[in-house]
Amino acid sequence: MHCQPRSHPMQACTLIARAKINLYLEILGSRPDGYSEVTMILQSIALADRVRLQRRAHGIHLICSHPEVPADGRNLAYQAAELLQKECQADLGVEIQLEKQIPVAAGLAGGSADAAAVLVGLNQLWGLGLTVGELQNLAARLGSDIPFCVQGGTQLATGRGEVLQPLADWEGIPLLLAKPRHLGVSTAWAYQAFRTRTAASLPSVASSLPSLPQVLAALEQRDLLALARSLRNDLEQPVLAEYAIVGKLRQALLEAGAWGALMSGSGPTVFGIMPSLELAAQARDSLRRHFPEVDFWVTQSAPTGILLEPDPQPLDPP
Ligand code: ATP
Repeated sequence: MHCQPRSHPMQACTLIARAKINLYLEILGSRPDGYSEVTMILQSIALADRVRLQRRAHGIHLICSHPEVPADGRNLAYQAAELLQKECQADLGVEIQLEKQIPVAAGLAGGSADAAAVLVGLNQLWGLGLTVGELQNLAARLGSDIPFCVQGGTQLATGRGEVLQPLADWEGIPLLLAKPRHLGVSTAWAYQAFRTRTAASLPSVASSLPSLPQVLAALEQRDLLALARSLRNDLEQPVLAEYAIVGKLRQALLEAGAWGALMSGSGPTVFGIMPSLELAAQARDSLRRHFPEVDFWVTQSAPTGILLEPDPQPLDPP
């Protein structure tokens, strides 16, 4: 990796850090490093955090709008800045302001999106000149979903999720998301629950589940109904067995008109593929009445993970 610190063209910038959903998540087995070997199709969605970066002479200062998200070295955004500082021996500082919109511990990669935004933004702000590939390599050291978030869009992810192959973008798939307000699920717990379940040899339904070729064909043909029918998430059953609300929401989305519904990542957020944004909004309004303890979002698929909005303020004072 070659950091080439240049002059610093920007004093500050704001990034849109988009969440993701998993259209497909198949667990192939365990790896010697303790992670699971997976095949996933990840899709960026319009729901996003805002990440504001301002250059400072020294240090990393973090401000976060969400009271339950740590604003210190435990925060993935902080860790991303620290990693760049170390790797590039950049004697530069930053103030990071996180405006959280993505629900936390929801299976939507909120923390990963913020970390990816910090990598992309600081590469500009500190003038490091790193390529997208180099940023993704650094991202993989911080977490499995972060390399995806750097570029986003629609991607096939293998390995532990860090080996990426971009697929054709499909912008504007209408989506309705539902998350029990006070429930978060730890990713580590969900994978462990899957392993326990598999070890207990509960009846395998793998052969009746959608397969990767099916979902890839639906994506290639842009067949929304076929896509809705090929959704798969191997973590869904173990999470659902523990948290019945996840299954109830999935069923409620289908009854409210979703062509297909699935838990995203390790949950507990469930998304429905809707025939249109209008119908998604109608379904949200009616479901809200039945599920007052659940948050809903009407959103859609998006072609990129991070969007950089150059700061309109003037450059460095002379
Ligand atoms: P994934 O889908 O990648 O598994 P998630 O959406 O389930 O992620 P996050 O919202 O990223 O989960 O949060 C998981 C944990 O990470 C939380 O307990 C939170 O305290 C911690 N965390 C660290 N940094 C952040 C951040 N910037 N935003 C949200 N959570 C963060």
